[in-house]
Order: sequence, then structure tokens, then C-alpha cells
Amino acid sequence: MSDPKRICVYCASSSNINPTYFEATRVLARSLVKNGVHVVYGGGKTGLMGTLADTVLAEGGQIKGIMPRFMNEVEWAHRGVTDFEFTETMHERKAKFLEGIDGLIALAGGSGTLEELLEAITLKRLGQFTKPIIILNTGGYYDPLREMLERSVREQFMSERHLAMWTFVDTPEEVLPAFVDAPEWSRDAIRFANHGFEG
Ligand code: AMP
Repeated sequence: MSDPKRICVYCASSSNINPTYFEATRVLARSLVKNGVHVVYGGGKTGLMGTLADTVLAEGGQIKGIMPRFMNEVEWAHRGVTDFEFTETMHERKAKFLEGIDGLIALAGGSGTLEELLEAITLKRLGQFTKPIIILNTGGYYDPLREMLERSVREQFMSERHLAMWTFVDTPEEVLPAFVDAPEWSRDAIRFANHGFEG
């Protein structure tokens, strides 16, 4: 694909994590701003979400937060981010993350990041989402997920073609080039989404 203009980043809310995850987030955020990418994220002020927003803002980039109203009510929203959209539910928020983006990046995270990432992969399998999904595997954090996904292909829960839905990269510098190299995907993926129906 061509250079992405608008990217959604899924990442951790926890602040109690190894400094290497924060450093990778800062490096990534700088490269997104340098390349004129408009960032969309969960709107949080803590953890990797907070670092992502702080760095994008410090570098003069553009960032939009999308957050359910109930999280704003308990003051989880990043105060420096001015472009905000509030949703009623987590489901609505997840749908909005995917609107009008050229792809998404998953940084390290907990259950929230994992479920956002796996929903996007599932939608891609069904042809409902067709953009690149880049997973930043800082320090091998996502090795078990990679093994799980590859095992699901090996054991024929998905087909070999589904391996093209995601790209794992080891460093933040590899993220943007991975968008350009990501295999094309189309809504026709629905035709081979159900592995058992293939000829
Ligand atoms: P996790 O990867 O489990 O830290 O979850 C990240 C996701 O959880 C975000 O996209 C949010 O949906 C949600 N989340 C959890 N805690 C917070 C927080 N303190 N501020 C904003 N969003 C949060």
C-alpha cells in the first residue's frame, strides 16, 4: 500500500511496565509525526497511551482520542489531547477506531489491547476490515501470541492465507516500512474466511 496518513494505535494503560516499552513507544510516536501520520488512540493518559499522546503532542503532531464517556467520568482522559470523541460503549469505541484509518499498530498491552487486536484480525478475516495490522513485538512480548496464531493455522483453524493478515516487527523503526510492504487484502476475504468451506 502507499504511505499511511491515519493510523490507530492500540496500547497499554499500565504504567508499571518495563521502560523498554515506553522507549519503543516514544521512538514510534516520533516516526509517526515525522512522517505526517495522524494518530488515533484510546484517549488515555496513563501507560503507553499516555506516552504516545505526550510524545506526539511534544513533536507537534496530530492525535485523536476515542473513549467511552464512563472513562472520561473517572478522569482517565488525557487532558492535553484536544481532539476527542466520546462514545457510549466500548463496542462503539472499537468500531470508531477502525473508521477512516489506513491501518493499525498494536504495541504491548494487556487484555484491552489484546481484544482490540484480535477483533481487528477477526474483522479482517471476514473482509470487514482490509488495512494492514502491524504488531510491534518489543522484547519478544508477543512471541506467545505469534505462536498461538501460527498454531491455529498449523492445526487448520485458519488457512495459510490468513498468515498474511498481520505483520510482526521487532523494532519501532520497522513499523512504517511494514505498512508499505503489507500484502493487499480485500473484502473478498469473506470467501475463504471459513477454512472448512475451501475446496
Ligand atoms: P490494556 O491493554 O489492558 O491496558 O487496555 C488498553 C485498553 O483498555 C484501552 O484501549 C482502553 O480501552 C482501556 N483502558 C484501560 N484502562 C484505561 C485507562 N486508565 N485509561 C484509558 N483507557 C483504559
